[in-house]
Amino acid sequence: MSRVAAASFDVAVIGAGAAGMMAAAVAGQRGLRVVLIDHAQRLAEKIRISGGGRCNFTNIGTGPANFLSQNPDFCRSALAAYTPRDFIELVERHGIAWHEKHKGQLFCDDSSAAIIAMLKQECDMGKVAWRMPCKVDDITHDDGRFTLKTSQGVLQAGQLVLATGGMAIPQLGATDYALNIARQFGLKVVEPRPALVPLTFDAQSWQDFAVLSGVALEVKVKALAKAVAATAKGGKRSGKQPEQLFLEDLLFTHRGLSGPAILQISSYWNPGEAIRIDLAPQQDLEQALLQAKQGGRQQLATVLAGLWPKRLAEQWLAHEDFSAADLATRRLADVPDRLLRLLAERIHDWTLVPNGTAGYKKAEVMRGGIDTRGIDQKTMQAKTVPGLYFVGEALDVTGWLGGYNFQWAWASGVACGRALSAG
Ligand SMILES: Cc1cc2nc3c(=O)[nH]c(=O)nc-3n(C[C@H](O)[C@H](O)[C@H](O)COP(=O)(O)OP(=O)(O)OC[C@H]3O[C@@H](n4cnc5c(N)ncnc54)[C@H](O)[C@@H]3O)c2cc1C
Repeated sequence: MSRVAAASFDVAVIGAGAAGMMAAAVAGQRGLRVVLIDHAQRLAEKIRISGGGRCNFTNIGTGPANFLSQNPDFCRSALAAYTPRDFIELVERHGIAWHEKHKGQLFCDDSSAAIIAMLKQECDMGKVAWRMPCKVDDITHDDGRFTLKTSQGVLQAGQLVLATGGMAIPQLGATDYALNIARQFGLKVVEPRPALVPLTFDAQSWQDFAVLSGVALEVKVKALAKAVAATAKGGKRSGKQPEQLFLEDLLFTHRGLSGPAILQISSYWNPGEAIRIDLAPQQDLEQALLQAKQGGRQQLATVLAGLWPKRLAEQWLAHEDFSAADLATRRLADVPDRLLRLLAERIHDWTLVPNGTAGYKKAEVMRGGIDTRGIDQKTMQAKTVPGLYFVGEALDVTGWLGGYNFQWAWASGVACGRALSAG
């Protein structure tokens, strides 16, 4: 990568990922002298591994409702100023073929490497200077200029953009660097947590289900905020937190639950709270079982296996709730209606309390981050520190699974890139 001899720039961007490259390219193409710094050996590893190697680069349905934040309106302005259509137009300008997969999710036909090459080319068009791999040891701010002591010498810039992302997948070089710099400059941070992450259960309560590892099925899932969870035990409902419901696939694993449905709800789940899963969302199981009972000579297990993955049907009936009633081997005609109703209710309303998440190692994103109440929503500039900007996942703006997080990275990067100035 090319280097520029001068150590003085209009803008220094730390983090050459999705948002950082976008901000640098936009600012560079506006004629600003930009340096882009990253500590990684390889460029944009998260883009490379994203979307199973095909990068789910946006979602055509992106809107503020697809994001979690303590300041939910913050993302509106940037998302409106740079839309999925704008990114599609860029992708097409670079001749990258794409397709829609599921629920508005757009993927590259070939490889996510094309998106990385596109962003690199956009940076080159803006004559962006690179320092990579390069470690920033110290940042100071005097007389309106930022001085960065790095492993490649001292750099000076009139404006500084933090684009170092979130903490998911530390093995790829993810850090909490932006959060620490935010704190250094007196900004607040919303507690960060792993999100879009598998949920785990304590080994004993999970032993009956661990054998189902690999079983997948469509479910409806919601997170029950503490006060809401209490209603199941006769408590009072606070009604404060809106319930979010997802209809997606669930995957059983050795340690707990994964799959898109669980990743989505994990972003809304807080330690100690329950999740509620409808394991047969497309059918009225009570009616189906009572109907099948009429003249039914089949065993209940056979009937259930016709509606569900066979391994799940067998294991569900063998589980402690029903093993005493010996449901697995009974003919449907011999099972009392009361038990069939109970069975249907448990399947439609499986309420369970995870003991944690699989952590940042398995998470796709970080939830929380720099408190956006301290950031200008049109420019991404810190309200109390002129010249200091934050973009991308480091901010407390967390998208759903499905291309929303990249759309936020592009949109916040562009908002910042357009707002930066010479000096
Ligand atoms: C496995 C996986 C799959 C994903 N798939 C998708 C998907 O298909 N669609 C989607 O929308 N989102 C997806 N995401 C989320 C998406 O990758 C991120 O939300 C997005 O990359 C965030 O962009 P960013 O620019 O803020 O941070 P990043 O893209 O993570 O870039 C941050 C950059 O900062 C650098 N950096 C970090 N710390 C320092 C430091 N101290 N000094 C210097 N440089 C530093 C890193 O090396 C990195 O290059 C996925 C995430 C993962 C982990």
